[in-house]
Amino acid sequence: MNQYSRWIENLLELIPHTPAIFMIDFLRYFVFAGLAFLILYVWKHPFQNRKIQNKKAQPSQFLREFLYSVSSVSVYTLVTLTVLFFRKLGYFKFYEDVREYGWGYLFLSVFLILAVQDFYFYWTHRLMHTKPFFRLLHKVHHESVIPSPWTAYSFSPGEALLHALILPIVVSLFPVHNLALLISMTFQIVRNVLGHSGYEIFPGRFLSNGILKHINTNTNHDMHHQFFRYNFGLYTTIWDGLFGTIHPEYEKTFRKITEEKEKRLSDQIENDTN
Ligand SMILES: [Zn+2]
Ligand SMILES: [Zn+2]
Repeated sequence: MNQYSRWIENLLELIPHTPAIFMIDFLRYFVFAGLAFLILYVWKHPFQNRKIQNKKAQPSQFLREFLYSVSSVSVYTLVTLTVLFFRKLGYFKFYEDVREYGWGYLFLSVFLILAVQDFYFYWTHRLMHTKPFFRLLHKVHHESVIPSPWTAYSFSPGEALLHALILPIVVSLFPVHNLALLISMTFQIVRNVLGHSGYEIFPGRFLSNGILKHINTNTNHDMHHQFFRYNFGLYTTIWDGLFGTIHPEYEKTFRKITEEKEKRLSDQIENDTN
């Protein structure tokens, strides 16, 4: 069989999987964004006094964000299909049997995927905030100045492509099992939805802990949508800390949203019971 007929055969084998690949990504977005929306925007919830910005996101923005997210999922599907195509040709370091490297390695690889993505996101995000790339790639995402759970995948196709490239990058760097990808990408969408949810759910004392304070909070990314020039990180504030891009008011704002509002709520409960 010559090379071209092998390519065509691979393509014909992959094409029927397209709807399933699309649906896995779409449902991951729709279920987690939908749940966060129901809990935080429709039902009465314990975080009502933890709204990060005083203004509310407009219902008209939700549909725009949802449609851009569907477009992003289409881009992710194309990238996944391309990676699977080259995987069939023997490229990339996928492995199928967990026993090959053991469960310890599988969980280490989840951590590695997230660490590489954290670094990749910080620098591509900073690149997208430079003049030539902002309009071209990132403007769509920043149309949501008051983000909502639906903002999670609201990207231009170019930005979605840039984010999707994390897949070929990690499977080029170290051996990756499908389960490790499933766990890390589920963590990614949960974190992403929370970061855009508009409410702070982390405990008030979170930033007082020497280790936990390096983990990104919802306030951190929300402030990125408000102020544009700070807080470029995804999962951690490590790169923002090292390169001096944490918003100077970040810790103060986080404490104001969590501690003061917690105090106000407990005062209110006390007054109500008296
Ligand atoms: Zn964002
Ligand atoms: Zn940005």
